[in-house]
Amino acid sequence: MSDDRDAVELPDTIELPRLLDFYELQTAEHTGIHEFYERLREGQLSTTRCSDCGDVQFPPRIVCPECHSDDLEYVDLPHEGELFAFSMVRAGAPLGMEDEVPFVTGIVEVGDVRLSARIDGADYDDLAIGDPVELNVVEIDGPADHERVFYRFEPR
Ligand SMILES: [Zn+2]
Repeated sequence: MSDDRDAVELPDTIELPRLLDFYELQTAEHTGIHEFYERLREGQLSTTRCSDCGDVQFPPRIVCPECHSDDLEYVDLPHEGELFAFSMVRAGAPLGMEDEVPFVTGIVEVGDVRLSARIDGADYDDLAIGDPVELNVVEIDGPADHERVFYRFEPR
């Protein structure tokens, strides 16, 4: 090994719960899409639309994947949508969801976007593609110093 290489130091200990946390830190200090979470905390699901080419993305972006513009605006999404696809999680659930298996996840069509989300309050066997679903905002109780929320859906 060469003597003039820079050294990279690693911490002696790593806080595993933080690293395995499924949910993003949601403040302006941590993410460029904090406005998405601020709106969600108010109960509004939203995403970004490119002011230059009109492309609507989900999840929200800070740069348009179509034309690379950073002139994006937040637009509201409807809170009612349709189940485009769904499946059941029986094992291998993310940290904090181990005790909730089995549960349903799905692809939901809301407005111009499709997004993946947990489907709460539903039995896999009772669901069908095209079923109407509605937004369910949940609070995340985890190792963060600020209130966090996330979006799920449930049958309506
Ligand atoms: Zn664009």
